[in-house]
Amino acid sequence: MSLPLIVGAAVFGGASAAFVPRIAHRLAVPRGTPARTACAHCAKPMLDWVRAGAPCSCSRQPLWTVGAAALVASLLGAVLGESLLLLIVLPASVLAVLLAAVDMRCQRLPDPLVAALALITAVPLGAGAVLAGEPARLLRAVAAAGVCFSAYLMIALIGRGLGLGDVKLAAVLGFVLGYAGWPAVLAGLIVPHLINGPLAVVLLVTRRAHRRSTLPLGPALLTGALVGLVVG
Ligand SMILES: [Zn+2]
Repeated sequence: MSLPLIVGAAVFGGASAAFVPRIAHRLAVPRGTPARTACAHCAKPMLDWVRAGAPCSCSRQPLWTVGAAALVASLLGAVLGESLLLLIVLPASVLAVLLAAVDMRCQRLPDPLVAALALITAVPLGAGAVLAGEPARLLRAVAAAGVCFSAYLMIALIGRGLGLGDVKLAAVLGFVLGYAGWPAVLAGLIVPHLINGPLAVVLLVTRRAHRRSTLPLGPALLTGALVGLVVG
């Protein structure tokens, strides 16, 4: 475990995540609606994408977002060490924070963001496995993506409150976890339900949700993938 690597990863994660709230605020709109061009709270024009800190002058500084991203990045640095996997999942973790932020705001995982996550993870990991003479690793990643895709597609088809965005994200995460190994895939499949299940019960009991409410699954899927990478 290298301290400079962990600190470097934390600084990278936190500093990059400072730009997430502005983008998340603009992208958190209903399906088929163009990105927001004004603040949802004070209607101040919001035309640029690159802004660190609060999404608008009327909102609070995103301390939780930055803190969580720094923590995730340092954890990945500590567990994965100097590796191709770290080089790829570190920037991907910032995109993951953005996906989670958008999903929590509007229960949507926009296709371009999930596609970008696939592009920056599956492509270099696949190429890396081939170049390292490990085609079995690539096959395992593809198989795991297929398993996760099928499992979540079945849950979506029987109408258990998840959308196709969740199914696509599960497939991308399945590929990354499959690259790491089957124990990581297993954790990635189980952990999201260990998060959202009890959370749903707490929300029902405290009457902050009712029977028909649906919880966004994206943040739980991404947390499950993080746990998978840590334990796998
Ligand atoms: Zn505002």
